[in-house]
Amino acid sequence: MRSTMQDEQLTIGAVRRHVVAVHPDSEVVTATADGTRRRSYAELGRRVGQLANGLRSLGITGDQRVATFQWNNAEHLEAYLAVPSMGAVLHTLNIRLFPEQLVYIANHAEDQVVIVDDSLVKLLAPHLAQMETVRHVLVAGPDAADVDLDSLRVGSAEVGLYDDLLAGQPEEFDWPELDERDAAAMCYTSGTTGNPKGVVYSHRSAWLHSQAVNTGSAAALSFEDRVLPIVPMFHANSWGLAYSALMSGASLCMPDRWLQAEPLVRFIRDSLPTVSGAVPTVWNDVLGYLDQHDDISLDSLRLILCGGSAVPVSLQRALQERHGLLIRQAWGMTETSPVASTGIPPVGVSEEEVWHYRGTQGRLFCGVEGRIVGDDGSVLPSDGASVGELEVRGPWVTGGYYRSDDPESAEKFHDGWLRTGDVGMIDERGYITLTDRSKDVIKSGGEWISSVDLENALMGHEAVLEAAVVGIPDEKWDERPLASVVVRDGQSVTAEELREFLAKDFAKWQLPDAWAFIDEVPRTSVGKFDKKVIRRWYADGEID
Ligand code: ADP
Repeated sequence: MRSTMQDEQLTIGAVRRHVVAVHPDSEVVTATADGTRRRSYAELGRRVGQLANGLRSLGITGDQRVATFQWNNAEHLEAYLAVPSMGAVLHTLNIRLFPEQLVYIANHAEDQVVIVDDSLVKLLAPHLAQMETVRHVLVAGPDAADVDLDSLRVGSAEVGLYDDLLAGQPEEFDWPELDERDAAAMCYTSGTTGNPKGVVYSHRSAWLHSQAVNTGSAAALSFEDRVLPIVPMFHANSWGLAYSALMSGASLCMPDRWLQAEPLVRFIRDSLPTVSGAVPTVWNDVLGYLDQHDDISLDSLRLILCGGSAVPVSLQRALQERHGLLIRQAWGMTETSPVASTGIPPVGVSEEEVWHYRGTQGRLFCGVEGRIVGDDGSVLPSDGASVGELEVRGPWVTGGYYRSDDPESAEKFHDGWLRTGDVGMIDERGYITLTDRSKDVIKSGGEWISSVDLENALMGHEAVLEAAVVGIPDEKWDERPLASVVVRDGQSVTAEELREFLAKDFAKWQLPDAWAFIDEVPRTSVGKFDKKVIRRWYADGEID
């Protein structure tokens, strides 16, 4: 028997309609060099209509790709709504990619238009001529009129101002009826080898994922909230926070390019967000800043979502105990839209266990299933002890990569499950604990040593700002851990002291025997520790 329910499609267009009809009084606040600029959702809705008309006037039809090269700001949000709602596909370009990767993905996605922030024109201009399919470049932002547009006139693309395109366009657009399974947006993952791989989100996957982020398992948003996505809109759709906020009518506070602790803290005090999301390094910097400024409190924030890499318990404790800020660890990847689980502790456990569970990657949301798989491909028990690769599946998990014939792409899937490349275990209560990424696992004398556990423990030492642990070749044991440590300004510590500090919690054979004191941990384009670079430094004798 079929249901009697109406077959309304779950589309970004429906989100747009909802925002305009029900939450015209919420707002998007964007940080500027010396303050903020604000736009109501009523105005946002009108500009979204104008943008769709403008893009249509440039010839954008069907599922053509419209790329963005933008920070988190009001104009980027307009593209988030207008492009998928008109049936086109939003391609968020990661501004931190290596130039050859950037050019590769723009060509691979066949981007027709690039919307670029005024502040990012200089970064894009040198690569534009190689972006073969781009026909139009639109410069957005309050200072767009001051930009040297000729610097962008390097290829055949026409160059214009975003606001000029919108001006005079009707605010109403003839929005099409779309199938929820059609593509809404795409995002490339950097990949460890080979070219970046494209993940294509559908309207339905974005909808379901954003609603999951809206539940109490993640951000629990309502229109009373104000959401500050610090995680870039070009990195896995800002963890779905933009669409989640729009769906719940929450206002959005957009930091634009002001991502250092000092301007960020100022923006938080000006725009009063209740919920934010960013990777651990951002909160580490904010912690350092708050520790030095006793008089500043960020008490508008009721919840911080944090993930992208393991979130040390020491960071969570310091922010909570010294500054009253609650961090919730989230796990996911571009391929999972990205949020799939959060580390909320079980009810009724001891204080010590609460901190244990908050250090885990947590429980999966309804909609994502997970399992641990051994080296031989067999499914291992969820007993909190069997360690293997985490595999997941669900309606907001990708089932493949866009136009990829790379053999590595096929290897990422196993019987319809996505192989995450993350190694760890699931306990009887369904909590995931990740010990490593498979490419970072350290195998010493036949036993695994968790680089993540060592890093988290080291970052709990008061003199350590950051630590990254990698395996280095060893004749006797195959591999041994090398710890690269960044010492906090004004502090000092020796390798011997750190070894003693770790010895409280680790067996002797797990302790790093090689140590390097470095100025900063190298990072990937999405801000994660780039362990490849540390291994290369070691191989080249730059550290020992
Ligand atoms: P990339 O693969 O380019 O780094 P992603 O942002 O998609 O891009 O990275 C996803 C990976 O980030 C996950 O597979 C996992 O290794 C890591 N990750 C994300 N969140 C967490 C977390 N809370 N704890 C540990 N690792 C995490």
